Amino acid sequence: MPELPEVQTIVSDLQSIVGDKITDFKTYWPKALQNISTKKFSSAIKNRKIKSIERFGKYAIINLEKNLAIVIHLRMTGKLLISTQVASGKDQGLKEKHIRHVFYLRAASRKPKTVLFSDVRKFATISLYDKKDLMNLKNKLGIDPLGKDYTPENFSDAIAKKPHKEIKDVLMDQTVIAGIGNIYASEILFEAKISPHRKVKDLSREEIRSIYKFSMKVLKKAVKLRGTSVSDYRDASGSRGKFQHRLSVYKKHGQQCKKCDTIIEKSTIGQRSAFYCPKCQH
Ligand SMILES: [Zn+2]
Repeated sequence: MPELPEVQTIVSDLQSIVGDKITDFKTYWPKALQNISTKKFSSAIKNRKIKSIERFGKYAIINLEKNLAIVIHLRMTGKLLISTQVASGKDQGLKEKHIRHVFYLRAASRKPKTVLFSDVRKFATISLYDKKDLMNLKNKLGIDPLGKDYTPENFSDAIAKKPHKEIKDVLMDQTVIAGIGNIYASEILFEAKISPHRKVKDLSREEIRSIYKFSMKVLKKAVKLRGTSVSDYRDASGSRGKFQHRLSVYKKHGQQCKKCDTIIEKSTIGQRSAFYCPKCQH
């Protein structure tokens, strides 16, 4: 569920651990590690300093010394929580709170900290990448809506690669645009007044321009409001976001459109639910 604004909020919160050293790693769900054993992962990241933390699409990337990067995808219910309460050896009972992994850190002040990785559904993933793997990942993904490459021309060119697909499906295709999921695709298309069922090839230049414009507007607003907490999402301190109060169509089916009072509809596009106002969106 976490999309660009939620991952961006978590990554911004995690800036407080940049400069800290990883002292240990513990996992209760080793299957989350994608390309490496727990033992190898632990020994590779131990005693490494966190150089920077960035977001790309829906990925949170923790860059370590020696060009290593811990690449995290939160999938449905993953959460990263910074804790100064849980110090080494005191994680009894964490399993009940769906804590699957614990990163133990030591700040420059020598104060112990932990990053608790909670995940109810257990779909979240952790990978350890070198510089080349990371470049491959970024090349595989589409343009990031908050990146400097996100221009009207690049947006138009990117979606034009999928002419026969419905626009909502294309906005959510991570190889086209990286970071948009079901919530924001629905909201962006409502603001742009475009039906999610429209095929890319049938959109006019003005309509594409409008989707581009509102994609930035909606995502920036959602980042400002620290994401959407409709179900599990929480920021790195465990607090809810506020964008759920601004939603116009996402999961609002059966309710009245706030612009025209028509009942919001729900349909299926690419095996995912689409929410839209049949009167406002054409
Ligand atoms: Zn409407």
